Amino acid sequence: MSAGTGGHLAGGIDGPGHLRALTSVVLDTLEAAARARGGPLPAGGPDAVTRRTTALAAPVLPEDGVGGEAALADLVRAVAEGAADPADPACVAHLHCPPLAVAVAAELAGAALNPSMDSWDQAPAAGVIEELTTAALARLVHPDASAPDALITSGGTESNLVALLLAREWAAGGPLRVVTGANVHHSVHRAAWMLGLPAPTVVACSDGRIDPAALDRALTGLAGAPLLVVATAGTTDEGRIDPLPQIARIAGRHGARLHVDAAYGGPLLFSERLAPQLAGLEHAATVTFDLHKLGWQPVAAGALAVADAAMLAPLSLRADYLNADDDTEAGLPDLLGRSIRTTRRPDALKMAVTFRALGRRGLGALVEHCVRTAHEFGRAVDAHPALRRRPGEIGISTVLFRPAVADALSDEAGDAVVAAVRRTLLTEGRAVLGRAVAEDGEGRRRLWLKATLLHPNAATADLLPLLDLVTAAADRAVSEAPASEGTDAPAAERLSP
Ligand SMILES: *Cc1c(COP(=O)(O)O)cnc(C)c1O
Repeated sequence: MSAGTGGHLAGGIDGPGHLRALTSVVLDTLEAAARARGGPLPAGGPDAVTRRTTALAAPVLPEDGVGGEAALADLVRAVAEGAADPADPACVAHLHCPPLAVAVAAELAGAALNPSMDSWDQAPAAGVIEELTTAALARLVHPDASAPDALITSGGTESNLVALLLAREWAAGGPLRVVTGANVHHSVHRAAWMLGLPAPTVVACSDGRIDPAALDRALTGLAGAPLLVVATAGTTDEGRIDPLPQIARIAGRHGARLHVDAAYGGPLLFSERLAPQLAGLEHAATVTFDLHKLGWQPVAAGALAVADAAMLAPLSLRADYLNADDDTEAGLPDLLGRSIRTTRRPDALKMAVTFRALGRRGLGALVEHCVRTAHEFGRAVDAHPALRRRPGEIGISTVLFRPAVADALSDEAGDAVVAAVRRTLLTEGRAVLGRAVAEDGEGRRRLWLKATLLHPNAATADLLPLLDLVTAAADRAVSEAPASEGTDAPAAERLSP
């Protein structure tokens, strides 16, 4: 069989016609698959999903192709019936957002045009859109700086890597020492490792936030070395925001540079009411900001904001085929120094479309909705006799809780019940809850169920069924738990470290 509709192009005058036919297959398939799944994720667990997906999708590289419509119908069905869909209010495990339709539609245009953001002759207007977008983000994060700037990245991991790279290049007189909290994202440790820096010095946290006194002591102990403090505005496990004003003061006193990982919390800046929670952010030299979390963009949509465009100088690079000196002198913009990548997606387009469609107020209202819903959900947990919420404030939109029956058991058996509840609901396809280890208010580290509420229009009432799902699964886990250890029953499974 020939390539058929599989061989048509998306661009040019004829492209949209081909795309219209193919996207109608995609959209019909997505709708039917969401109905067929009937929940936040497929039932049956990994083996069942592998079986069903393989039956629809294999072989993925046949000798002769099946044609565009057939391939789309089978594989889109496979991936959609087998999806964990964050548009379902019961899909709340991670900072995994339901993307806005307007952003996904923009993504389609970006993919059809396929600009590559590494040179002007591949992205003449897309480069301008990126510049407008990064300028808006830079101004949002550093409103009072004279020349703030921002880079588009693939997400928080790349943003943290570039932030540490820029700090390493800034450091003079010895290797950069990174000082951070025990609550920091793992990508900061990995970035230090990738960049050949000494392992970060980790200071203690209290209630999930960096303890400023411990930070001060750690910086005193490293006096003489160039220092980078990495704070977090919205921890992945608990949504905690480090005390940024105090941290900025302490860093300033020690001559340390400040990086804030605001991958989760950065979008609070869209809301006038919530932005004050990020006071102090303006003192950061660099700020990680993700829009594929609280920003409702399809992956990837990351940014790194810098207080001064001059900080980006270490990224500049010449490659004659992309930014020859004479081309740059003749006025062709040099895009190569705007990333550690070369070929790069036009991720700014969907961000720009979203920003312009909703405006700062519209985005702020969506962030406020998530925060409000989390607080209402937290109160419902507090009022539920069979559940216990982790003591303390709710961090941004993350609620940690566990079934009360788990507290009646030994620490280990109780945590095993919590883990079993999560896996049971995953396997049954009823709910996607996360897990986090956090202090229980009496200084003991326990396992909690985590609900990360990023749904920008689910009502609290849509989330309440989760509570009864959890308590019912917990009752089953406890009744099935063996009196002694060492069997295969789920409740007896050991937690991995
Ligand atoms: C998600 C997250 C990251 C990593 O971002 P990616 O976009 O997944 O690469 C880094 N830091 C924090 C605090 C995060 O929540």
